[in-house]
Amino acid sequence: MTDAASKTDGAAESIEFTKSLRKLSIKVGTVDDAFDETPGTAVVLCRDSGSRKWGPKWLSQAALQANVPSDPSNALELVRTTRPDVVFVEAVLVGSGGEPIYKMLLDAADVTSKIIVLCNGSREISAALEAGAFDVACKPYEWQAISHRARLAMRLKSSQESLAESTVALSEALEIANTARATLRSQQSFEPVTGLPNKSKFVDLLRRGMRAMDKDSGKLAVIVVGFTRFRLVIEAMGQEQADQILTEIGQTLSECLRNTPHSNSYGSQVLRTAVVATLDQFRFGLMLTNSGGEEELAQLQQQLLDALSRPIQIAGQTVHLSACLGLALYPEDAGEVDSLLQRADNAMRDAQSRGGGFKYYCAETDAAAARKLRIEHLLHEALDRDELSAAYQPIVDVATGKIIAAEALLRWRQPDGSVIAPDEFVEVAEESGLMIRTGEFILDEACERFCAWQEQGVRLPMICVNVSKVQLLSGAFPRTVQRILEAHKMRPDQLELEISERGVLSGDYDVIKQLHELKSIGVRLSIDDFGTGESAIAYLKELPVDALKIDRSYIAGIIDDRKDAAIASAMIALAQRLELTVIAEGVENEAQLARLRKLRCDAYQGFLFSQAVDADAFVVRARQQ
Ligand code: C2E
Ligand code: CA
Ligand code: CA
Repeated sequence: MTDAASKTDGAAESIEFTKSLRKLSIKVGTVDDAFDETPGTAVVLCRDSGSRKWGPKWLSQAALQANVPSDPSNALELVRTTRPDVVFVEAVLVGSGGEPIYKMLLDAADVTSKIIVLCNGSREISAALEAGAFDVACKPYEWQAISHRARLAMRLKSSQESLAESTVALSEALEIANTARATLRSQQSFEPVTGLPNKSKFVDLLRRGMRAMDKDSGKLAVIVVGFTRFRLVIEAMGQEQADQILTEIGQTLSECLRNTPHSNSYGSQVLRTAVVATLDQFRFGLMLTNSGGEEELAQLQQQLLDALSRPIQIAGQTVHLSACLGLALYPEDAGEVDSLLQRADNAMRDAQSRGGGFKYYCAETDAAAARKLRIEHLLHEALDRDELSAAYQPIVDVATGKIIAAEALLRWRQPDGSVIAPDEFVEVAEESGLMIRTGEFILDEACERFCAWQEQGVRLPMICVNVSKVQLLSGAFPRTVQRILEAHKMRPDQLELEISERGVLSGDYDVIKQLHELKSIGVRLSIDDFGTGESAIAYLKELPVDALKIDRSYIAGIIDDRKDAAIASAMIALAQRLELTVIAEGVENEAQLARLRKLRCDAYQGFLFSQAVDADAFVVRARQQ
């Protein structure tokens, strides 16, 4: 049921409920008003002429209109058709079968009139009352008194009828109210997209599960499931398809938990409760009571990762998601619902920052998660308050020693003067959706600075800017690049975009297409941190790149570590064969530079020449050469 539909249903129910209540109040009103002189009807079945004459007169004074049939033998028929409020009938009158007429009337289920029996003596009174007569009167008939009692009988009848109707109206109202309450309860407890319990319901179930574990001395596992690229998928595909993906993931998780064995690792049967819930737009929660030991949890973990790594087909597209699972156990990791869930979530975020996989909660997870949350919060403010800036590190030609480019590197100086390293906040920016804004900022800043330097006479062939995988996969990045180049009237080949091999070029993502699109604009592309990822050489040939930047970890060992030295020289040779410019990162001493020169490496950057400095200091350094 969609949200809109359930809202409409809720509204319809509420209208019905109001109607029903209104009906009810009308009915209740009738009960109260039953004592007014509403005209009524009566049938008088009497042979006694006095009664036939005076009865109707007195009855009419009590607002009862009496019908006095001349032949009482078909009285039953008459009462059935005219449905009088009250029937007066002499006990002595009998029908064709010899049975007293009052008895026939009392026995007929469809006769609702109040029967008042006119008797001749105590025997008749007892018989009439026993048969269920509403009232009796004895000879000589006092019609004035009888009329008054008839009036009471009528009021009573009307009240009873109203009450019966009110009961029906009341039960109708109650039923509608209950349905409405149930709908509301289910809306409050279940997430409309996936149909799974929502967070508040999940918390409630966790609380119950924990109580059950207290009794059974068992363990309860909470697993929070998130994804590394889900935000990107939503942005790229739209909410409707993201909803479909969420529903599918919910089903996969439910399936996995349904298949958890009902026996523990010792083979004995255990009673397990498994729950899958939707925590928010990006996360799911799983609960497993009597979760068992490490072995069983490891099995579950593998089962979940396997199931979630299967590609999802949506609207003709294949979506690969990388799942991140965080697990916390009750009672070891936390004794309360909120902290248990929080700890599982922290573990999930830890897995997220490692690019996916499964993570058990541990105390360090908390500290790291708390710091991340703080950074995320501060980064929002930093972007608004212009606390971010760019520092520039020269890239130097190995052969000539001249600066041939500058790499722009993000710097975040907080108002108190403390600096947060980009290695730390870039990751947070990527996870929190702030990277697009941050990336656009540094690209614009670097291009603006590059043009300003040209005007100041510092003419560099190009400026290098780092690009995050989040930007690259957003789909809109090529347009952004084009817009910024146009805004600064820059030639595309004056801009080199650095794309890290780590995590981006691992073949997981469909980045080749994106790189080609960027290349078609005319910008230069380089592979950053080369040697830290898993890109196969064959894959490298497919990429429209112009340069390779050898990660500084290899340069660090280029003199003392034979393996590093061999790899670095192989990389340089490979780059040359592929006709790529090769740049060494993190050159800190002359020995390293000398080795690079020998290997015919094209360019380098590192503390040996200069750290990353602010724009003005860069100009000073550039003018010195
Ligand atoms: P990176 O792109 O590999 O940047 C080079 C890093 O090495 C810089 O660190 C630089 O200061 C440091 N470095 C340069 N020379 C030496 C040296 O001789 N020795 C040592 N030990 N380090 C050296 P930084 O500025 O802290 O940046 C770290 C990383 O943060 C960057 O690595 C890059 O991955 C990321 N980053 C920085 N700015 C941006 C940005 O604007 N966008 C994106 N997406 N990532 C950025
Ligand atoms: Ca870089
Ligand atoms: Ca690098």
